[in-house]
Amino acid sequence: MTEQNSYPSDIMDKLVSLCKRRGFIYQGSEIYGGLAGTWDYGPFGVELKNNIKQVWWQMFVQRRDDMHGVDAAIIMNPKVWESSGHVSGFSDPLVECKKCKRRFRADQVGEKCPECEGQFGPMHQFNMMFKTHVGAMEDESSVSYLRPETAGGIFVNFKNVVDSLHPKLPFGIAQIGKAFRNEIAPRDFVFRSREFEQMEIEYFVRPEEWEESFEEWRKEMHSFIETVGIRKDRTYELEVSDEDRAFYSKRTIDFEFDFPFGRKELYGLAYRTDYDLSAHMKGSGQNLAMADKEGEPAIVPHVIEPSLGVDRTILAVLSSAYTEDELGGEARVYLKLAPRIAPVKAAVFPLMKNKPELVAKARDIYAALKKEIPQIMWDDNGNVGKRYRRQDEIGTPFCITVDFDTLEDDTVTIRHRDSGEQERIAAGDLEKFLLKNIK
Ligand code: ATP
Repeated sequence: MTEQNSYPSDIMDKLVSLCKRRGFIYQGSEIYGGLAGTWDYGPFGVELKNNIKQVWWQMFVQRRDDMHGVDAAIIMNPKVWESSGHVSGFSDPLVECKKCKRRFRADQVGEKCPECEGQFGPMHQFNMMFKTHVGAMEDESSVSYLRPETAGGIFVNFKNVVDSLHPKLPFGIAQIGKAFRNEIAPRDFVFRSREFEQMEIEYFVRPEEWEESFEEWRKEMHSFIETVGIRKDRTYELEVSDEDRAFYSKRTIDFEFDFPFGRKELYGLAYRTDYDLSAHMKGSGQNLAMADKEGEPAIVPHVIEPSLGVDRTILAVLSSAYTEDELGGEARVYLKLAPRIAPVKAAVFPLMKNKPELVAKARDIYAALKKEIPQIMWDDNGNVGKRYRRQDEIGTPFCITVDFDTLEDDTVTIRHRDSGEQERIAAGDLEKFLLKNIK
């Protein structure tokens, strides 16, 4: 990382603590001591998350004519995961310390146990899918899995979507949803957890068109990164080498981000040939070839897969947005979130909460705005300085203060988060101003 894009000191501790303090992200099952690898999104976290998912869905599904959304079941017929290769191959190498019996991912430790210096036993492959039983019988015949990725639900619905909509190649199917992986070593806040969310697209193409389509998706992914406010100067492409690529993939790019704990995978973009559809064709016995050009035989399309993690997006967004500066001679912290994804677009305050006429006026302005722009917050806690500090940490782009002048001339003060500058505008123009500035 270069000097100017380096992080403030102890950024991870500060970020985790801000997320908890302000209600973005809490440890999962916290009052019971937590559950490793799980996180709960709080009131502002869920808004931020929904805004990010909405940007993705609008950009890649609703604004396009060639994309169709699905929302498939999380628990699927186990044969899906046999066909896809997950039952036999979705595993990480595991070693167990002979002395303290702790288990580690073999590729993340050295020769000796980091806890007690003990020797490791032989390496095993540990399958990361969560097993469960479906129905009243708890035997081998009822075993199923929580999906380890959302892509499976797309491939099994390929034929359904083709039969319902008769799309022409190229076209895509998209899904947002939870995925579960029993990670050996969940770590780094929401970067690697056991339950997380993905936003995935399978974009079906004619085999000869994969390169062109791959390039397009590469650009689209950068454009998404920019739209949600992930810093471009901390984002890199890593061309995955032949040895590291899955055997069926002819090309894979990892989009990496300089997280506070190092440069790590944010997203993946892979050309997966016709591996998945062919495997499901074999496993299900169904014909998944589709008619393409008139008079020519049906083909099994090839696929480009842009795969994005919601939680890693949130962590990259928060890491990009976290800013420490000085305002009016005082140190402050604020989240420089893109207004479009900020959980609160504007907060409305009465200058003083013990003046009924100010409160009533502020309430009126608040109610009118909230009807049109739901992510508006009422804040009358503490003095105005405290409210600004709180809203800065939530990343609220605008604060609106109703004061005595408002009662005279119907104008309010708007304070801009990043510069701290204030301007006076007519209360009647607020809605227009906000709609223009939160896009
Ligand atoms: P890694 O190598 O970091 O384990 P991966 O290559 O296994 O990731 P993919 O299978 O390509 O990840 O999953 C697609 C996307 O899903 C990733 O780019 C990431 O954004 C997200 N993702 C994968 N595993 C996790 C996890 N355990 N926690 C949070 N997000 C995850």
